[in-house]
Amino acid sequence: MNSVNTQYFILIVPSCLFFIGLAFTFSRLIFRADIFLLWIGLAYTIPSIALFIQCLMTNPQLTIAAPFTAVLYLFGSWIGAYAISVKLNTPFKHLPALFLTVFAFIALAYFSYVNPQIWLRLIILNATLGLIGLISIPAVLKYLPTSQSFDRWILIFYLLNVSYSFCRALINFIFLDSIDRDHIILTSSTWWLLGMSVNIILNILFAIVISGGAVKDVIQRLNNERLHDPLTQLLNRRGFFEQSEKLPFNNQPYFLACLDLDHFKSVNDTWGHYIGDQVLQKVSRVMLQHKKPNDLIARFGGEEFICLIAAKDATEALSRIKQLKVRLEQATFTHHKIKMTASYGLTEIHDFHEIEQALQRADDLLYQAKQNGRNQISFDLVV
Ligand code: GH3
Ligand code: MG
Ligand code: MG
Repeated sequence: MNSVNTQYFILIVPSCLFFIGLAFTFSRLIFRADIFLLWIGLAYTIPSIALFIQCLMTNPQLTIAAPFTAVLYLFGSWIGAYAISVKLNTPFKHLPALFLTVFAFIALAYFSYVNPQIWLRLIILNATLGLIGLISIPAVLKYLPTSQSFDRWILIFYLLNVSYSFCRALINFIFLDSIDRDHIILTSSTWWLLGMSVNIILNILFAIVISGGAVKDVIQRLNNERLHDPLTQLLNRRGFFEQSEKLPFNNQPYFLACLDLDHFKSVNDTWGHYIGDQVLQKVSRVMLQHKKPNDLIARFGGEEFICLIAAKDATEALSRIKQLKVRLEQATFTHHKIKMTASYGLTEIHDFHEIEQALQRADDLLYQAKQNGRNQISFDLVV
């Protein structure tokens, strides 16, 4: 094997890892992607710097630099494990990671400067990398059964990466015990190349699932924003139509209520727009507490809300709206203890295709309720 050419050729591996990490880091710093990507990006770039430097080194140089390059690998493993805990929203134990890093640094310094042994250094480094990775494994195992699609693959690849660290330690232990005696140049050895090949395959696959997961998260977030009202988090008009199209109108009677807060303008005029917003948020929470699983609740703009109610008949639908009316009357809003009432128009809807007509009927009934003095329900149901 031509060692010089090989050394330069294998620089492709750390370079790839470095740029993958950079892409993840920038996706957070510039495009506000999930913070997980910042940490995972650093977990790629930091060790890739060590790998890059090591690929150009001879054994004596490796020995001199060993504790310092090792620290870069150890930080990479630490940050990688932390990234996974960020992804899973679980606390991370930094103290064991610090302890392991310091322990490995001291041991590697000993086997570099006092009693130089590449073999032991390789075992200690890889085993410690695995041990640091283990810190996040309980959380990974806990979430793995319920995780889905890309998130599941991220966890699987993390498990593989941690296992691979222990495999490397074991392989070093079994096959490389003669490395010091035989004066093999580690970075030009078949073992090094083999390790690099597995490393790049695992890490590129890992990067692919992480990228896939990031794209999926962004699409989900955009979709969520597209379908929900930012102030109240209720469905917006578009979300309401998309969701109601999926409802089983053939198997279940549905009723549509249009609700408009009474004299809401005076809340803004008296307390200001900010307090008005808080009232709208609290009204939405009251409505959500009242919601049953098959109902839909939407904000159609301003202080006007729509409830699509799944009820067995008109009597039940009317009593549900009466309950909501009482709940709103009983609630007080914000620290100013503002009292609110609403007017309601309630009608039946038989099919998604007549939703526009049903909305128009409910709106007309709501207008009637306003005309008749507000804080009341108008309906065209036979009860
Ligand atoms: P009515 O009983 O006839 O419904 O009277 P109202 O005052 O509730 O109705 P009107 O249509 O006269 O006024 C609605 C007010 O709602 C006017 C507008 O400033 C306010 N509004 C609309 N959207 C928002 C919002 O997002 N936040 C706040 N704070 N106010 C809003
Ligand atoms: Mg109003
Ligand atoms: Mg209105």
